[in-house]
Amino acid sequence: MKNNISLTKSPTNDMNEIWLITGPMFSNKTKKLIQQIKFVSRKTNNFIVFKSKKDTRKTKNIIFSRHGPSMPAIPVFDHNELWKIFNERSTKPDFVFINEINFFSEEIIPIIKKIAAMNTKVICDGLLKDYKNQYFPVSQELSKIATKVFYQVASCVKCFSPAKFSKRLSKEKAVFFLGNKNTYEARCEKCYF
Ligand SMILES: [Zn+2]
Repeated sequence: MKNNISLTKSPTNDMNEIWLITGPMFSNKTKKLIQQIKFVSRKTNNFIVFKSKKDTRKTKNIIFSRHGPSMPAIPVFDHNELWKIFNERSTKPDFVFINEINFFSEEIIPIIKKIAAMNTKVICDGLLKDYKNQYFPVSQELSKIATKVFYQVASCVKCFSPAKFSKRLSKEKAVFFLGNKNTYEARCEKCYF
């Protein structure tokens, strides 16, 4: 039974694939994830797209990118709900997509490992760092175990150089403050500090 797989079991099969698409805000992370979903959906419909219920922007069961495309997704409260829904499928999915992994806690990491160990490819996207330039622990951990990491960059709003930083323009201090182009700007290293 799927439920009996130990949380601590580490992947031993070379087929275990975990991909992470990461970078700052405005770096087309979700757009790239949606491209991957569309690519996969041309071959199979045996996949699940998850998003966090903490992401309350726009429609709750859709992931969207600022640059157009959107995709239906299952909103989950946390890693436990994600695991439950994954296991409820009568057929093991070939792919699991997770949008905005930074909304989840590090406790999702063993779940992702378990899913990958079942030869389901896991593709996630999410912010690597918050507006204070601190790593989201879940993204940092995932970047270490991922078999492939796509580091996306944005374009600095000041000088158009490649931007790795998300500068918060408002005084809001909460890490999970949901913003848009009025509250955050992409900045290069020179224009961030
Ligand atoms: Zn700049």
